[in-house]
Amino acid sequence: DGYNVQVRTNLTALLEPGMEDMPDFFKDHKVHIVASMPCYLEENVNSQRGDGVYGKSIQILQKLNSLGYGMNPELSLYLVYNPGGPSLPPDQSQLEGDYKRELSNRFGIHFTGLYTMTNMPIGRFWEGLKREKKDDEYMQLLLGGFNCQTVGELMCRHQVCVAWDGTLYDCDFNIALGLPVSEELPKNIKDFTLEPLSNRRIVTGRHCFGCTAGFGSSCGGALASDNL
Ligand code: SF4
Repeated sequence: DGYNVQVRTNLTALLEPGMEDMPDFFKDHKVHIVASMPCYLEENVNSQRGDGVYGKSIQILQKLNSLGYGMNPELSLYLVYNPGGPSLPPDQSQLEGDYKRELSNRFGIHFTGLYTMTNMPIGRFWEGLKREKKDDEYMQLLLGGFNCQTVGELMCRHQVCVAWDGTLYDCDFNIALGLPVSEELPKNIKDFTLEPLSNRRIVTGRHCFGCTAGFGSSCGGALASDNL
């Protein structure tokens, strides 16, 4: 049956010129879709992502539904929530219920499930916090929210990430930060060896507290059922 392939999208990119055929292409190849949709309310989406983004996102979600995405089990459609500011995501299953109710009532939209993700203390989000002098406060929130239940499920413990040039990283965030796997390990996918990589020491930093705070966070959403 081949491999499971997943695409991550901000939805609006699928309306760009030249991208019109992508939803049908995804359907034909049974590509799973994970899409950013930071809220079910227009005001919150537009304030986080820009004017008009909500309407365009709804338009493309309706198109995906019309192709069977979010309804046919072979065509999964997951939405991704992340907080609009320096706070931790709420309970994933409760929020999923809210999204399903509101998007169904307002637009007849269906989707497979919701992933809640924490804003990591890196990149543009982190630079914005520094400008607003909220970086220390946010780091304290992440540190204080450490949840040991998340540690066994951290995505770096179950996968490696491969950059465009074959370099191996523990996760996407370490790619963004330029932190390859620990130096004693194979460095490139062409030298992949299961044993050392599956028992490797993970290259960590304070950004890792973004994965372990509250309910936890990963590319598959929350990691723990309790927010200790
Ligand atoms: S940020 Fe840290 S804890 Fe999170 S997946 Fe990457 S290495 Fe693991």
